[in-house]
Amino acid sequence: MAGTSKEIAVTRSSMPPFEEYVEEIRPLWESHWLTNCGVKHQQLQRELEGYLGVNHVELFTNGHSAIEAALEAFGIHGEVITTPFTFVSTANAIVRRGAKPVFVDVEPEWLTLDPDKIEAAITDKTEAILPVHVYGNLCYVEEIQRIADKYGLKVIYDAAHAFGVTKDGKGAMSFGDASALSFHATKVFNTIEGGAVCTFDADAAKEMARNRNFGLDASGDCLFPGGNAKMNEYCASMGLCNLRYVDAEIEKRQKAFEAYEERLADVEGLRIPSDQKGVKRNCAYFPIFIDPAKFGATRDDLFEALGNAGIRARKYFWPAINEMKWYSEQFCGGTPVARAASNSVLTLPLYADLEIKQVDAICRILLDTPKEV
Ligand SMILES: *Cc1c(COP(=O)(O)O)cnc(C)c1O
Repeated sequence: MAGTSKEIAVTRSSMPPFEEYVEEIRPLWESHWLTNCGVKHQQLQRELEGYLGVNHVELFTNGHSAIEAALEAFGIHGEVITTPFTFVSTANAIVRRGAKPVFVDVEPEWLTLDPDKIEAAITDKTEAILPVHVYGNLCYVEEIQRIADKYGLKVIYDAAHAFGVTKDGKGAMSFGDASALSFHATKVFNTIEGGAVCTFDADAAKEMARNRNFGLDASGDCLFPGGNAKMNEYCASMGLCNLRYVDAEIEKRQKAFEAYEERLADVEGLRIPSDQKGVKRNCAYFPIFIDPAKFGATRDDLFEALGNAGIRARKYFWPAINEMKWYSEQFCGGTPVARAASNSVLTLPLYADLEIKQVDAICRILLDTPKEV
């Protein structure tokens, strides 16, 4: 079969019609105002506050700097409880801010931070919990808040996967003290590169806005040594255009997502995480978890079979962060659920324009692989 089908990438960035983007950036040629909180930046910020249902959205050049800025705004330098089953950015942000990640295992259904294991990891140095709404699966937000309140901890969500997710009608960005978003090209909503922190805390929002602009206040005085992480007007313009289509894009993702579900549900040895009660999902990713003894092929067999047919799946996330080189040298494992998930996961191609016949082709290879190995 190799070479007979067209390549299918694991993801494909959402883009507005070209002419619409051109119209959006035309005023920049008149104003010559390209960055530093220009009109597009301001407009995107307001529109996202409305869309996401939060008081403050502070924009950044990327999601990583948004996480770092959130940690810094709340003065977090001690221990931070987090998950090893996420993109490495989450833990890197903690380390780069001079804090210490403490890896707590995830629960086996949705792979979010296991609330039953958090308290045992709390010490007198713990300052914050940094959970991840992984794959757009909402964390156990109520349980996490209850623990945070009991011990006086901040809760900062890495919400990079959760754009547009709601629970009982409430936006995913309304939980905890702050939520960091990524608007990277591969995410459900993109500004090419970009990110944001969402919060209801006006003082923290102000601190983050200064953080992305060298720590300067309105008079030009430096209040603290901030960095530079300002979103430029071209990225903000891309965001304004993409925001008009994001609901339609999520609906299209949902069609492909449901097609996968139909074809792969009830396959022995292949697990799909279940729906979460009351949660409107954004269909950001389609992870499957393989039990080779029952399925008859390993995750790596499937990865290879798909690759041979020009289909790019992703081992997302493998390895778990505490098993990556730099981290494994200083943090011992102790997170068996995350380890097992990272060794059995495959995220399948998923994006708005993925066609149902492509889903068919992908599923056919998956289901035929055990017969061939
Ligand atoms: C994408 C991502 C980030 C980093 O966002 P960038 O915009 O790429 O800097 C952080 N955490 C998670 C879980 C992500 O998926």
